[in-house]
Amino acid sequence: MAHSKNILSDSFGRKHTYLRISLTERCNLRCSYCMPVDGVPLLPKAHLMTADELFQIAKLFVEEGVTKIRLTGGEPLVRKDFPQILEQLASLPVTLSITTNGVTIDQHIEALKKHGVKTINLSLDTLDADKFKKITFRNYFDRVYDNILLLIKEGFKVKINAVLMKGVNDDEIIDFIKFTEDHAVSFRFIEFMPFEGNQWNREKTVSLQEILDELHQHYSASELIRLQDAPNDTAKNYQIAGYKGTFGIISTVTNPFCDSCNRIRLTANGQLKNCLFSNTESDLLTPFRAGEDLRPIIQKAVLGKYAVRGGLSTPEQFENPEEHSENRSMIRIGG
Ligand code: SAM
Ligand code: SF4
Repeated sequence: MAHSKNILSDSFGRKHTYLRISLTERCNLRCSYCMPVDGVPLLPKAHLMTADELFQIAKLFVEEGVTKIRLTGGEPLVRKDFPQILEQLASLPVTLSITTNGVTIDQHIEALKKHGVKTINLSLDTLDADKFKKITFRNYFDRVYDNILLLIKEGFKVKINAVLMKGVNDDEIIDFIKFTEDHAVSFRFIEFMPFEGNQWNREKTVSLQEILDELHQHYSASELIRLQDAPNDTAKNYQIAGYKGTFGIISTVTNPFCDSCNRIRLTANGQLKNCLFSNTESDLLTPFRAGEDLRPIIQKAVLGKYAVRGGLSTPEQFENPEEHSENRSMIRIGG
């Protein structure tokens, strides 16, 4: 198939200018909502993109119109050649950012600053150290919490992602918001999403509406300020009057925001996913290694993108576990 000019535009007119690259399927935490209970079979190293391959493929996307790249995983910072990857990608004309669990980010502060990373998305699902251990199966709460304070002190814009789950951390919504009183961060509540092996069911999710109901019980209409969302923002953003920070709700399950989606994903083994929920992938790494032109493959993958959540447009489809069994677990996609 010959490729045309705008290979990152899909059949619904969405332009995909934001590439999320997973650096690894490995992680130093075991978050129950992300890592399947039986773990994931790790791919041999030869199947993963090397730093140079990753750079060359990312460069091609940038030449075709990508303006923002987010590094994710697994945990991107467990990759030993992270400094090299960061340095290479920083030479491209893009906004670079990272999503991390924050366990070791203190070791990368200078490199991140030097290479122009200004925003850090960091995951923290609880403000309670014991609960952190129950959710992640690791005892790193203090490290992560201290690293959040360090990032703020060092001048980074920090967004904290919390996946809300009933009976796990839904009792902390107001505590999270209170954290924004003195800390200039953006707390983002993410609806728990279904992926292979994460034992999702609807009863465990905390919906946008439930969060809003909780907010209205604690804050008056004049205290709760609805902020203007940035274009392509996945969160509906709010602030409590007088607080330094803000918070947002990412409602992929109950209120998908697919019509303004500008994101495509590249997995650590070089597979292009046109949607987080898509159960098909396009192999870029094998043809890249064979010296083939990736553009027609990318264009075909982008044109195949569904209007809504990889084709899971009805609540019934979305709630059927069989619809998710063909998709990778979140740890192997890169959130
Ligand atoms: N290890 C890094 C981290 O935890 O931030 C980056 C990878 S992680 C897969 C990226 C994001 O996906 C995290 O914010 C995590 O909370 C989110 N995530 C993982 N599984 C999820 C699920 N089932 N539903 C909603 N968000 C999920
Ligand atoms: Fe690791 Fe991030 Fe998944 Fe937690 S959410 S298991 S930190 S990749």
